[in-house]
Amino acid sequence: MSELRFDTKKIRAGYDPAQNNQSVLPPVYQTAAFDFKNTEHAQNLFTYKEAGYLYTRVGNPTVTYFAERVKALDGAKNAVAVGSGMAAISYTLLNLAEKGGTILASPYLYGGTIDAFDRLFPELGVKIKLTDAVLDPEKLEAELTDDVKGVYVESISNPNAYLLDIDAISEVAHRHGVPVVVDNTLATPYLYRPLEHGADIVVYSATKALTGHGNIIAGLILDNGDMSLYTKERYPQFYEPIVMLKGKSAADIFPDNFFIFRATLVYLNLLGAALSPQDAYLAIIGLETLSERVAKQSANAAKIAAYLESSPAAEWVRYPSVKNYKFRDLADKYLTNGGGGVLSFGIKGTPEQESEFINSIKLFRYHVNLGDARSLIVDSPNTTHSELSEEELALADIPHNLIRISAGLEDADDLIADLEQAFKAAGLL
Ligand SMILES: *Cc1c(COP(=O)(O)O)cnc(C)c1O
Repeated sequence: MSELRFDTKKIRAGYDPAQNNQSVLPPVYQTAAFDFKNTEHAQNLFTYKEAGYLYTRVGNPTVTYFAERVKALDGAKNAVAVGSGMAAISYTLLNLAEKGGTILASPYLYGGTIDAFDRLFPELGVKIKLTDAVLDPEKLEAELTDDVKGVYVESISNPNAYLLDIDAISEVAHRHGVPVVVDNTLATPYLYRPLEHGADIVVYSATKALTGHGNIIAGLILDNGDMSLYTKERYPQFYEPIVMLKGKSAADIFPDNFFIFRATLVYLNLLGAALSPQDAYLAIIGLETLSERVAKQSANAAKIAAYLESSPAAEWVRYPSVKNYKFRDLADKYLTNGGGGVLSFGIKGTPEQESEFINSIKLFRYHVNLGDARSLIVDSPNTTHSELSEEELALADIPHNLIRISAGLEDADDLIADLEQAFKAAGLL
């Protein structure tokens, strides 16, 4: 069979009914552990001579089916599913930089990621440098010093829809032997596949549009299978003996997959944020409608953005379809399937009017999640990004009057009518 197309893979990839009693849907392997057949089988599993399952924290078939399906959608070589997007991000960056060193990071990131960068990573010996040079890869070159262990960016940023040129960033980073990690949560593989644009590692919060129903917390780490960037000099951790491997290194055991193997063995295993089989099952069901959902969310977001662009209640609107979008050329080149569900706008008026507007909303749900089938609204500077310092907010280009919308699957006209009545209630129209 020739290579299957995206929409076929999202329904079929990574799972074979014939290996599961013809069960059409992947069974939920609701078990903590898996029996050994005998002592030889146990030894083979522990020494990776044989593939198999032993304990759900480090592997479970339902969780594997979910990871395999996203792996196929992203064109990745290796994948592991974990218990949250934050676990995927933390495990990836610690696996890269646990020996110390610097992660060069985009300032245009999810608030929780910035919190981890401020509060957690420096305490663990990993320096984080937020740099707007990601907007201009030639400038980034000067920052790629010998202690840099990774470049970290979001493809479409939360909440501002900044779009970065991953091809150009990867080209510069690779010249200096540094891998590029992309948080592709907002884009999903339906809109953009970073590994096709030079990125080495992709992380997801699968909580969001990837699975799309606001019913689970989940994450994924994927890579392109190219281990050649991880040199012994810069990344000795992959070549050093690990006690659990009885003196062998991660690279000894899996020469083509030691990055994700080590993230699983050391971080998923020992820090332990495992995805439950039940949640992996729900994630697989969510993936079946990925294209349909994200296409509709993109269409709804574009309609809402057009309404806001023409509304006197909005100072500005950031979304790929609006007239003065900052990244027009990149959007035309890369976002041919749509701009995604997330847009932001600056609300006119006083902070009191902003509160009145939010409190008057009836249809949108007011909370921190994204990518849900329901439309969501949030005042990001006061909530999702409230822990950023004034300098970080300025660097991230998040004005105090920013309102973020995550368009769902409702009728766009109802959503627009809801915004209109709330603007009126706040005295803005
Ligand atoms: C939500 C989110 C995360 C964190 O994911 P969780 O599943 O909530 O841990 C990371 N990155 C982005 C862009 C997000 O929107």
